Amino acid sequence: MDYRCAHRWAFPKWGEALELQQAQLEAPTGHEVTVRVTHCGICHSDLHIQSGGFDMGGGKTTSLERGGTKLPVTMGHEIGGEVVEVGPDVSSVKVGDRVVVYPWLGCGECPTCQSGNDHLCNKAARNLGMQLPGGYADLCRVPHDRYLVPVGGLDPARAATFACAGITAYGAIRKLPEATADDWIAIIGAGGVGMTGVALASALTRAKIAVIDPDPVKRESAIAHGATLAVDPKEADATRALLKATGNNILGVVDFVGSESTSSMAVNIVRRAGKVVIVGLFGGEFRCGVPLFPFKSMSVEGSYVSGLNELRELMALAQKIKLPEIPLTLRPLSQVNQSLEDLAAGRVVGRIVLQP
Ligand SMILES: [Zn+2]
Ligand SMILES: [Zn+2]
Repeated sequence: MDYRCAHRWAFPKWGEALELQQAQLEAPTGHEVTVRVTHCGICHSDLHIQSGGFDMGGGKTTSLERGGTKLPVTMGHEIGGEVVEVGPDVSSVKVGDRVVVYPWLGCGECPTCQSGNDHLCNKAARNLGMQLPGGYADLCRVPHDRYLVPVGGLDPARAATFACAGITAYGAIRKLPEATADDWIAIIGAGGVGMTGVALASALTRAKIAVIDPDPVKRESAIAHGATLAVDPKEADATRALLKATGNNILGVVDFVGSESTSSMAVNIVRRAGKVVIVGLFGGEFRCGVPLFPFKSMSVEGSYVSGLNELRELMALAQKIKLPEIPLTLRPLSQVNQSLEDLAAGRVVGRIVLQP
């Protein structure tokens, strides 16, 4: 067979619904691999991608088009599947292997990419589901076999979500300073990614964990996943109560929401010489009094998904420790448009995973 026919759900114009398109996939060359997609998670950032940009605050938005993403776009970056075809230079996987695909590809050649930090490549972004066709399709072409991680004993639907939601939580928790048992870590936002962050922080650090979320169900669930304290930020004096309960000893804060109000809360609750890690892409402007930086000697760091090595580490860790079972809803790929609408309307609890 010289080529295969891929069926992709792609949007032809920014902001428009996805439509089914066909594309010819030539036989893989070099290190290329064709994966038959069995699962693909829907991520909240797909809504931003479909709309064409992110809210940068102050009325400004980014443009994905100016950033090199070309129409039509086949989204889907939480891809799990089976290897069906390999290029002549591939030796790390074989036909029939079950894999999760690392989607955050860079140029693949610079020192940053070679070290496994393709997501931070400064030369070229070639993310699957943005610049390259992603997993809302029956077949996905992966440029190199090194981006494939074996599923092992994990549930393949859950493992697929590690490629974005999982490593986003893992990468952020790994950036926190070394903590003692007296220190506190605050986690803002206990949605799917935040809740995984709570479980990972409780498994990987000695600190006590405080969770900040307006939803009482999520606060209760956070306690079940290892948090010591859960606070409602809408309550009057929430910040003061939190500082009192933690003895003003919050060494690290991870903001999984990334809004104006949560980022300013983060810098207000972190202790001296502490660190704030901003992960969420809700949008807006970061407001913070400049003298707070020297007064607190604090650092503020961003965390964007994570590297290929972190995906491998997380997949190994998930086979050793019990991570929270964020509710998954399996749906046929043909329901992708309805599923994106449901996500935009806030009707999704946990994560939708599509199956071609
Ligand atoms: Zn994502
Ligand atoms: Zn690179």
